Amino acid sequence: MVNDSKRCAYCNKLMAFGFRCSHCNKRFCVRHRLPEKHECPGLQDVTSPI
Ligand SMILES: [Zn+2]
Ligand SMILES: [Zn+2]
Repeated sequence: MVNDSKRCAYCNKLMAFGFRCSHCNKRFCVRHRLPEKHECPGLQDVTSPI
């Protein structure tokens, strides 16, 4: 039985406790919970293009 809500949407790591991103509504581990750490689509306005 696999529970996808317990896996990080970025690195697919199994988490004891996940963080939900309020921008993309996905779950991430503690290392990827920040929008800038998982290439969040909701962060496009903040990061300036090259
Ligand atoms: Zn992760
Ligand atoms: Zn996000």
